[in-house]
Amino acid sequence: MAITAPESTGTVTLTIDGHEVTASRGATIWEAARSAGIDIPVLCHDERFDPVGVCRMCVVDVGAPAFAASCVRACEDGMQVKTATPEVERSRAMLASLLVADQPPRERDPKQTTTADNELLKLADRYGVSAPGGLPCGAGRGADLSSPVIAVDHDACILCDRCVRACDDIQGNDVIGRSGKGYDTRIAFDLSDPMGASSCVSCGECVAACPTGALTNKPIRGIPIRPRSELDAVDTVCPYCGVGCALTYHVDRERGAIAFADGREQPGSHGRLCVKGRYGWDYAASPQRLTVPLIRREGSYPKGALSADVRGDMAAAAEGEASDHGLASSEGGPGRKRKGGKRGRKPGGLVDYAEVLPHFREATWEEALSLVAGRLTEIYQAGGPAAIAGFGSAKCSNEEAYLFQKLIRTGFHTNNVDHCTRLCHASSVSALFEGIGSGAVSTTYGDVINAEVVIVTGSNSTANHPVASSFFKQARRAGTTVIYVDPRADKMADHADIYCQLKPGTDVAFYNGVMHEVIRLGLTDEEFIASRTSNYPALRDVVADYPPERAEQITGVPADVIRRVARAWGGARSGIIFWGMGISQHTTGTDNARCLIALCAITGNIGKPGAGLHPLRGQNNVQGASDMGLIPMFYPDYQKADDPAVKARFEQAWGAADLDPAKGLTVTEIIGSALRGGVRGMYMLGENPFLSDPNINKVRKALSRLDFLVVQDIFLTETAEFADVILPASSYLEKDGTYTNTDRRVQLGRKVLDTPGQARVDWEVVQDIANRIGLGWHYHAPREIFEEMVAVIPSYKNLSYDNLGAGGKLYPNPDPDRSDGTVVMFTEKFKTGDGLAHLVPAEWLPARELPDEDYPFVLNTGRMLEHWHTGSMTRRSYALDAIAPGPLVFVHPDDAAALGLADGDIARVSSRRGTIELATRVSHREAPGNVFIPFHFREAAANLLTIDEIDPYGKIPEFKFCAVRIEPAAHG
Ligand code: SF4
Ligand code: SF4
Repeated sequence: MAITAPESTGTVTLTIDGHEVTASRGATIWEAARSAGIDIPVLCHDERFDPVGVCRMCVVDVGAPAFAASCVRACEDGMQVKTATPEVERSRAMLASLLVADQPPRERDPKQTTTADNELLKLADRYGVSAPGGLPCGAGRGADLSSPVIAVDHDACILCDRCVRACDDIQGNDVIGRSGKGYDTRIAFDLSDPMGASSCVSCGECVAACPTGALTNKPIRGIPIRPRSELDAVDTVCPYCGVGCALTYHVDRERGAIAFADGREQPGSHGRLCVKGRYGWDYAASPQRLTVPLIRREGSYPKGALSADVRGDMAAAAEGEASDHGLASSEGGPGRKRKGGKRGRKPGGLVDYAEVLPHFREATWEEALSLVAGRLTEIYQAGGPAAIAGFGSAKCSNEEAYLFQKLIRTGFHTNNVDHCTRLCHASSVSALFEGIGSGAVSTTYGDVINAEVVIVTGSNSTANHPVASSFFKQARRAGTTVIYVDPRADKMADHADIYCQLKPGTDVAFYNGVMHEVIRLGLTDEEFIASRTSNYPALRDVVADYPPERAEQITGVPADVIRRVARAWGGARSGIIFWGMGISQHTTGTDNARCLIALCAITGNIGKPGAGLHPLRGQNNVQGASDMGLIPMFYPDYQKADDPAVKARFEQAWGAADLDPAKGLTVTEIIGSALRGGVRGMYMLGENPFLSDPNINKVRKALSRLDFLVVQDIFLTETAEFADVILPASSYLEKDGTYTNTDRRVQLGRKVLDTPGQARVDWEVVQDIANRIGLGWHYHAPREIFEEMVAVIPSYKNLSYDNLGAGGKLYPNPDPDRSDGTVVMFTEKFKTGDGLAHLVPAEWLPARELPDEDYPFVLNTGRMLEHWHTGSMTRRSYALDAIAPGPLVFVHPDDAAALGLADGDIARVSSRRGTIELATRVSHREAPGNVFIPFHFREAAANLLTIDEIDPYGKIPEFKFCAVRIEPAAHG
C-alpha cells in the first residue's frame, strides 16, 4: 500500500512498517508515520514546538547500529523504518520504567489530570511498568505552590522542556529555564524565583504542554479536577477580549460547575489562552449572581447612588479604610507580589449588596416585565422617540445585539441605541469608513506571519490581546520587524526591533513625520497611489510640514528614530499596522487613524498578504455588536440610518412603520441628553456606564435624573444602583449564540451551565419586552434569529449555524463549506463609492487639557492583563482577583522619588473633576511626567478623573489624556 504524506513539494519515498510512504523532503519520520496512520509514542515532542529529541521515547529502527529519534530524524529516500520491533518496544519500556521509577506515587496523581491525563503514566501502563514507589510530595526536588492557579511538582518533572518551549516559542513569555546540576536540575522561573513571584503571566500554556503532571492546574473554588473522561466537554469561545480564543470547558455535571478549561484549535488562537480565558470563568458561579427580578422600593426615591462610596467623593469615603492600604501580603504563597493594592476592598471592591439590596424588593418576572414595558411606553408616548434610549452590550451575542437594536428601533422609533464601541474604536471606525468604506479589519492578526514589518501602536497588546500578541512575538522570531509606538514601554517594547516612546497625544505628528520621510526617500508605492487612492497631493502637502526634526520636537521621539521607522516601513514589501485604544481614545482619535490609513495606502500596504489595517477590537463581540447595528448611525451591516432607501428597506424587512429617519445619539450624547432632560427612559443591557464612561460625576447625575431605568445584568453593578427595575440576566456561559472577533471570525458560543435561580437568557427577555409593547415576535432559538440577521446583513451572506464549524468562519465568505473565509480584503478596490482609498491629511492638535502647575502629570487609563472593564466578571473570578486584587497607579521611578512615593504607598491622584486614592506601583515602563491607572476598580475609579471631551467625528472620549496631580495620601 502506498500512502502519501501531505505537503509534498520535493518528496522522498520510504518504507514504514512495510508501507511505502511518500513524504515531503525535510519531514521527520514521526511526521511521515503519523500521516500514514502509524502511531509512534512521544514524551518530549509536541507538534506545535520545534523537536528536540531528548527523551528517546520515539526511537525507531532505521537499520543503523543505534535507534533513531523519529521526532528529529528526517526521512530519506529508500529508508526502511520499523517502528515497533521487540527491541524498539523493549527500549521504550525500559525508558518508561526508568522515568516512572523516579515519579511521585500515583495516589498523588488526581490533581494531575489536566496534562492530557498524564502521558507518562499512560505509557507506563502501555508497557506494563509497575506503579512507582515514589517520593512524598516535595521530598525530592520539591514543589512550588506559590502561584494561585498552577502547582509545580518538581519530582514529576522529566526535563523534557515542553513547558520551556510552550512558554518561549508559543506564548513568547520567556519565563522558564533550568537551574541546578545533575539530579538537582529543575525547571526554573526567571532566576529560580517562586513561580508566583516570577514574571509568569499565568497563561497556563506550560500546564497544557506538560506530559507528566509536574505542572498542573490548581482547583478553582474547590471544584476537584477529575480526569477528562469523567467530565463533560463543551466547545465554545472565550468571553473576554476581541481575540475570541476557542476553548473547551470541562464540566463536572455532578457539581454543576466547570472544573477546568483547555485551549482548542482554531486558526486565530491555535489552542492558546491567556490567564482570563484559562482561569477566569468562575464568576458565573459567584454567590452574588442576580437570581430574581428586583423593583425599587417606594421609599428609595428620589433616585441616586445607594453605596456610600459612590454617593460622594470616593476619597472621602476611603478615609476610614486607610489601614487597609498597600500591597496585600503573599496570599499566593511565599514571596508572591500581588499586582494590586487591596485598599477599599470593603466589601471585596464590589457593590455592597447588604447596603444596596434593601432598596429593592423581589418581584415576579410578570410584574417586572409589565412595569418595564408600561413605563417605557408611557415615557415614549409623553416625550416621543427622543425620550428613549438603549445601551446594548458587546458582551452579548450577535443575536442579542440584533434583537436589542431592533426593539429600540421598531418599538420606540428611535436610533438612540449604542454600546461600548463608542468608548473604544469609534474614531477608528469613523476614519476607516471615510477612508476605505469599511470599519472592519482589512486582514487578520494571523497574517502577521506574512508581513516583513509591522507597527503595533497605541496597544498594550500583551495585556489587552494576549494571544494576538503571541502571534506578533512568533512572527518576530520568524523574521518580521516589529516597530512598537506607545507612550508606555509595555511588554511589547521588549519584543520590538524599534521602540518609539512618544509623548501622549502626539500620534499625528509622529506619523506625519514618518510619512514625510517615506515620501522624501521615494519609498512610496506610486502605482498604488495613482490607481487606488485619491487626495494624495493634499496629504503630501500637509506632511511636508512635518520633517523628522519638527516631529521630534512635538513627539519627543528622536528624528533619527523616526527616519529608521520610515526606512523600515517604506523599505518592506509588506506591512500591517495594528492599533489599539492609545490611538482611538483621543479627541484626535479620528485624525490618528487617518494617518495610519494614509501610511498604509501610500506604501501600497492594503489588499495583499501580510499587509493591511487592523484596529484590535476590545470586547469579545464588539465587532459583532457593531455589525448588528447596535450603533446610532447605522442599521445592521453599516447601512446608513439617515438614508431613506435604507430606512425603507428595514421597514419592509422588519414589517415596521415609521423608523427614525435621522441618526440617533451616541453613548456620550445620551448621557448629556439625560442630564438636560431629553432622554427620560433607558434600557441598559449589560453595560455599566457608571464606571466605564468618562467623568462619572456627570454620569451619576444623568442616571439620577432619568424617569425610568431598567438594568439587565448578571450582577448588581454600580449602574444598577440607579435602576427602577433590575432584571437577572444570563452569563455568557449560560446560552447559545454567535460572536464575531476582531478578525471578522464568527464563532459559536455554546451553553455550558444552567442559569441560576430565576435568571433568564437575554434574548428571551428582550423578546418578552418587545411583545409587551406589541411587536409580536416569535423567535424560538438563536439559530432562527441568526437566519433573519444574515438575510439583512450582506457581509454575513452564506453563514449559518451549520457551517460555522468548530473554529468559526471569517466573513465575507463565499463558500463556508469549503473555505475559512476571506483573510485579505480590498484586493481590487475599496468599499468607498469610487472604490478608491480616500487619503485625509491631518494637522497635529494638542490634547484638550494640558498639564499645568496645578495638575502637572498626564493621566493615561486602560486595562490590566487580569481584569476586564468595570471588573464585574474578573473581580468575581478567584484567580484573577487573587493575582490582581486592587487598584494601582503606575509612576516612573524618578517621579515617585521626587514625590516621596515608594512601591505600595498610597497616592492621592486628583484632576479638576475628582480625587481618588490608590497604591503606587513604581514602574520603569512609564515615561516621566506620566501616570497610568487601570479603570477596573470602583474603589479608585479612574473615570472620576477623566475628561469628557470627545473626538468630533467618532464621539469617543479622551480617556488617554487629562491633567492630574499626584501626591502621597495624608493617611498613607
Ligand atoms: S503559565 Fe505561561 S507565562 Fe507562566 S511559566 Fe507557564 S507558559 Fe510561562
Ligand atoms: S486572549 Fe482574549 S480571547 Fe484569548 S483567552 Fe485571553 S481574553 Fe480570552
